[in-house]
Amino acid sequence: MREEKEMMQEKEWKALSDRYIAGTYARADALFVRGQGSLLYDMEGKRYIDLCSGIGVNIFGAADPVWVRAVTEQAALLQHVSNLYYTEPQTLLARALCQKTGMDRVFFCNSGAEANECAIKTARKYASDRYGPERNVIITLKNSFHGRTVTTISATGQEVFHKDFGPFTGGFVYVEPGDQGELRRLAEEYPVCAIMAEMVLGEGGVQALPQSFVDEMMKLAREKDILIIDDEVQTGNGRTGRYFCCENYGLKPDIISTAKGLGGGLPIGATLFGEKTKDVLTPGTHGSTFGGNPVCAAGALSIVERVDEALLAGVEERGRYLRQELEGAPGVLSVSGMGLMAGIETKGPAPEIVKACLGRGVVLLTAKEKLRLLPPLNIPMELLKEATAILKEEIARASS
Ligand SMILES: *Cc1c(COP(=O)(O)O)cnc(C)c1O
Repeated sequence: MREEKEMMQEKEWKALSDRYIAGTYARADALFVRGQGSLLYDMEGKRYIDLCSGIGVNIFGAADPVWVRAVTEQAALLQHVSNLYYTEPQTLLARALCQKTGMDRVFFCNSGAEANECAIKTARKYASDRYGPERNVIITLKNSFHGRTVTTISATGQEVFHKDFGPFTGGFVYVEPGDQGELRRLAEEYPVCAIMAEMVLGEGGVQALPQSFVDEMMKLAREKDILIIDDEVQTGNGRTGRYFCCENYGLKPDIISTAKGLGGGLPIGATLFGEKTKDVLTPGTHGSTFGGNPVCAAGALSIVERVDEALLAGVEERGRYLRQELEGAPGVLSVSGMGLMAGIETKGPAPEIVKACLGRGVVLLTAKEKLRLLPPLNIPMELLKEATAILKEEIARASS
């Protein structure tokens, strides 16, 4: 195995991967073998600046030494124990999350989709306990993204994810983001238990919700005891310049789901409960074998503790720099998003720009028809400048 590994060229690895791994990903032509901070390297030793961080996961970059120490020390002590027993890392992580955010309790799982499943179950149980099982409808947004399980694709308001996989979990109705009138109409027409939303729609094109729409969500929540589920899987953990993006809106959700950046690179998801929802889940109502696994939790704790005021100020500064550079640049039609979550609408086709940038050693993403940037939150300014210069050249080139 080891010898085979040393002999194979990048091209052969790609062929082997395509032969044996299910074809769910249209992979880019790159194979990364190691990284350091905001840099990634392929088999030939070519250097790339990472403006993607594994879709907002490696928020302190690759092989971050503090995180590596936390994870390896815990792996050498005890890698897993059933959730039937207490553990130190999970306890410390839950306390850190609550202290950072003002939420009351946490359920741990392994991904964003699972964090949303838990949020959906909790909202339905809250309403069922108080008003009966008929009150089970959840309003979600058109163009949202909440995950890939059958229930979370039902919650996802994009037809493209629904095709071929029905029948779906019922009880979801969709509203256009920003349409307050329709939101109120749906809340009056259906027996609604919750409104579920991303504050900045990520996969749906990096689109921030208007404040007035979030205000209407809060008003309806107060009037009708409707819960607000805030999906912070992508926006959370410092990405938008606050710990959770809802803080930018003065919103205190009843339930927050998060994952991606939380683990710093290992799979962990969390559902956070506020005052109203903290006691809804009782023994036997929900669970996860791996959820809050000691190694993942120890790594996550080392991340959460470092998302502090200084880091968040750095996120804002870098976000401002990106916007200043890109707004009005040749070939750029608009820049959206918040903090280090940026969507760039370009005159030229986004996939072409992504490909050209990859060739020149800059890794970025798309969201719908836009370019999307989710760099590590601590990316050094010099690297951000170097990557932005290349990006601007390729955007201009693709538009001419
Ligand atoms: C990525 C994402 C999810 C799904 O997370 P997985 O870990 O892939 O299950 C859910 N919601 C939002 C907003 C996301 O960006």
